[in-house]
Amino acid sequence: MKQLLTIFSSIFLFYACSTEEVRPEAEQTLGQAGPLNNKKCGTTKLSEQRISEDPDFFQKRANYDAFIANRILEASQESAKASPIITVPVIVHILYNKEADKFSKQFVRTQIGVLNNAFKGTNGDISKVPEKFVKSLAGDTRIRFDLRRIIYKATDVEAFSINDFSEADIRNPNKGGSAPIDPVHKLNIWVANLDGFAGAAFKPEHNVAPEQDGIMMNRMFFGLFESDTNPLNLGRTLVHEAGHYLGLRHLWGDDALGPTGCRTDDGVGDTPNSSRGHTGVPVFPVVTCGSEDMFMNYMDFTDDKALLMFTKGQTKRMRAAFDFETRKNIGIFSN
Ligand SMILES: [Zn+2]
Repeated sequence: MKQLLTIFSSIFLFYACSTEEVRPEAEQTLGQAGPLNNKKCGTTKLSEQRISEDPDFFQKRANYDAFIANRILEASQESAKASPIITVPVIVHILYNKEADKFSKQFVRTQIGVLNNAFKGTNGDISKVPEKFVKSLAGDTRIRFDLRRIIYKATDVEAFSINDFSEADIRNPNKGGSAPIDPVHKLNIWVANLDGFAGAAFKPEHNVAPEQDGIMMNRMFFGLFESDTNPLNLGRTLVHEAGHYLGLRHLWGDDALGPTGCRTDDGVGDTPNSSRGHTGVPVFPVVTCGSEDMFMNYMDFTDDKALLMFTKGQTKRMRAAFDFETRKNIGIFSN
């Protein structure tokens, strides 16, 4: 674990990018705090938290993998007709310190639009995927996110922390947080000042209660906005965290919290194993573990403008998650 923490501590992100949408006035100041040494993803930290809380964590994790593998096999033997659309109702909680920090409804809707484009494979830059990986492209995952409600909540908390396992405060109105809405049936996303990470998600294998489940987003990396200094400005941190929420791991398989390097994988056949996350905007090819890395996958750590794709294998794994205990009530199926 210490080795893993060292690796994560060393992953700092560099900030330079621009995009097509002008951020509303209230949002324009938010991405201009200068270069941040902010770690991309706190989901592994949440895994550490679960390991400390649940002595059966690794057994349950193995059970989850077996369940998903079986569901993917069953799905491959089912009807060849198009898979149903699975819609996830979404509640977004905006926790703000001052009125000027409130994201507009349109800004939130645009972020959910980015999320849906990623899951449809309709992001405009998907054509940048290297030829090598085109055959692995997910296309339309037929998973959708439907924004049902935005909760605005003023808070005196300057930053909620994932590092010290006090992330529960974000859900607790008595601690400056915002209580989840219908968490059995809806994905709750909290947007707030997060200490240390751009975002974090509970995964289905974490087996947390619905009241604890969901995604936490650092407001600095939420939404689509212009920035010269923030490389996570295209709304793709939420795409990454949504991938975790539906059971995806980083491509280098760190979530076992055991040996890293090339010895662990993400459990997906069409995402080549890599030894680590990538940062910035790498130039293809980058080779680790004896193969070309898919650093443009949403489950890597590259800058937003370099994150382009999910794979077919990841799609199967995410869709299978909706049959698992902790996700089976969260999706609405339709054709
Ligand atoms: Zn992550």
